[in-house]
Amino acid sequence: MTIAFISDLHLTPDRPASTELFQKFINGAHRAVSELYILGDLFEYWVGDDGADALGHQAVETALRKTVDQGTRVFFIHGNRDFLVGEQFAERTGCTLLPDPVVITPDGLRILLTHGDALCTDDLEHQASRQRMLSGKWKLAFLGQTLEQRMATADAMRQESELGKQQKPMEIMDVNQNAVEALMREHETRILIHGHTHKPAAHEFQLDGELARRYVLGDWYEQKSAIFYENGRLILRR
Ligand code: MN
Repeated sequence: MTIAFISDLHLTPDRPASTELFQKFINGAHRAVSELYILGDLFEYWVGDDGADALGHQAVETALRKTVDQGTRVFFIHGNRDFLVGEQFAERTGCTLLPDPVVITPDGLRILLTHGDALCTDDLEHQASRQRMLSGKWKLAFLGQTLEQRMATADAMRQESELGKQQKPMEIMDVNQNAVEALMREHETRILIHGHTHKPAAHEFQLDGELARRYVLGDWYEQKSAIFYENGRLILRR
């Protein structure tokens, strides 16, 4: 059994190279991968499941559907960019939506999966907007707008977030170690995989006297980034 984990592809027609990398990866996935976990920010942004065509994501959905039909199970955890991906997307693509965080147990090994932005607790501004946007009230109000309005709002929000990122110190945009340890304790795991920070790495540390590992997925702006689970081992690959 080979399991693959990917995140932060930030797919958008504005960056065709990433979409090409994804298509290449996903088209070969059924041959090598029995389960694929997408840990958020597959899309640069999402304005509701009725907006997939308008955002130019039909080919991505078709590729996911094909992969599922070929026998690979595909799981989707929301990122902060595509948190509006919903049940219609899941139905069309055959992907299974999972909560964030979630524990999976291949071969009895407890692996904790999260997009990762909830762990960036030093970025108070992001945490505040995260709370606001994940509330049912905000979602209802947003999804109640016309597709055109939603696309305009999303575009403005994206520009604002890009600006904000340029002004924030790098440290506050990384995960907070205390938050990492608290989440791993809560879920009784010593292995965590996340994305969001775009800093691919395998970190090792001691957690309550045991070796703990935090794997970080990279983005797909210039090259692909994935983690594979095979025979009890996790490997980060470019
Ligand atoms: Mn993210």
